[in-house]
Amino acid sequence: MKIFFLYLLAGCLLFQNCQEVKKGPTAANIAESFYTHEDFKTVEKIDAHVHVNTNKPDYVQLSAQDNFRIITINLDDVNEPPPMEEQQQFALQQVKAFPHRIAYATTFSIRHFNDSNWQSQTINYLKNSFARGAVAVKIYKVIGMSLRDKTGKLVMIDDPRFDTIINFIVQNKIPVIGHLAEPKNCWLPVEKMTIKGDKSYFMQNPLYHMYLHPEFPSYETQIAARDHMLERHPDLKFVGAHLGSLEWNVDELARRLDKFPNMAVDMAARIVHLQYQAAGNWQKVHDFMIKYQDRLLYATDAVIDASANINKNDIHARTINDWQFFTSDDAMTSADFDQTFKGLKLPKQVIDKIYRTNAEKWFPGISIFRNKNYE
Ligand SMILES: [Zn+2]
Repeated sequence: MKIFFLYLLAGCLLFQNCQEVKKGPTAANIAESFYTHEDFKTVEKIDAHVHVNTNKPDYVQLSAQDNFRIITINLDDVNEPPPMEEQQQFALQQVKAFPHRIAYATTFSIRHFNDSNWQSQTINYLKNSFARGAVAVKIYKVIGMSLRDKTGKLVMIDDPRFDTIINFIVQNKIPVIGHLAEPKNCWLPVEKMTIKGDKSYFMQNPLYHMYLHPEFPSYETQIAARDHMLERHPDLKFVGAHLGSLEWNVDELARRLDKFPNMAVDMAARIVHLQYQAAGNWQKVHDFMIKYQDRLLYATDAVIDASANINKNDIHARTINDWQFFTSDDAMTSADFDQTFKGLKLPKQVIDKIYRTNAEKWFPGISIFRNKNYE
C-alpha cells in the first residue's frame, strides 16, 4: 500500500515536472507574480500611520487619488501641539466626511499622571473614543522619555500604574500602536549615526539627542521596558510604530516578532533604515520581509496640520519611491546615505499584505474600508 502511494506520488511529481517543462515559465507568468510601477495607482493600499490635524479635505483626497486609505493617529505631547482633544476633533470630522477613506487612533494623556483620579479619567476618555469609533490607541514615547512621577523618577511603560489602562484596552479588543523609545541613532554620537536625516535632526535638537544626556535611560533600557510590558500583557495586540524602534537591525526585530506573537510593526518613517540595511545585505532584508510578511504594515508618518500647504508632488514622489523599493529590483539611491541599494522585489501577495490586508487584520475596526460604496 505504502509503495503504491509512493509510486503515485512519484508519478505525480514526474507528471508535474513534465508539465512544467512543457509549459515553461512564460514571461507572462513571471510578470503576474510581481507588481510593476504602473500598478501603483490601481492597487488598493492603506497608510497605517499619518497625523491629519486639520479639517481640510486635501490630504484624504490626495491619498485617494493614489488609492490609499489612511489611519490618522492622535498623540499627546506638550511639545507637539495641538492637544489630543483637538486632534480627536479633527479626526472625527475627517472620519465623518470620509468614512470609507480614513479611520483614527485615539490616545491618552499623561499630563495628570500624578493625580489620584488619572486612571479613571483616562479610562473615561478611552471609553468615549471607542464609542466614537477609534480603531486603536496610541501609546507615545513621552512614557519612558519624559514622564516623571511624584518622586521625580522617570516612568517606563512596564510600570504597574499602566496596568489598569492596558487591561481596559485589552478587554475592549482594541490594538495599541506603541511609539516607545526613539531610533537607536538618538543614543549614538552624530558621526556614528547611519542616516543623514537623523544626523541633522539631532544636531539641530540637542535636547532630544540622548547621547548627550546619559542621565536618561539607555536605548536598551527603553526597549527592555517595552518588551517587559509585552511580557506582562500577552493578550495585548501591539503594533510597534516605526519598526518597533528596532529599525537598525532586522535580526533584532525578528527576535521580538518571534517572541511576541501579538506584535506587528508599522514602517512609518523608517523605510530608509530597511534601505540602508539592504545596501549592506540585500538578501537578509528581503528574506526578513518574506518571513514576517504577516507582521509588517506600510506607513508614511505624514504630518498634515492646518497651516501646512500640501505638496502633492512631494507626497506622491515619496510613496512612489517606497513602491519602487518594495516591488522592483531597480538600483536605487537615497538622500539619507551614500551607498546604492536594490529594490526588494517582493511578490504580489506579500505586497498586498504589507500594503493592505495586514492593516485590516491588525486593526479590525477599519473593516468599514471594505465597503466600496464610499464618496
Ligand atoms: Zn507618527
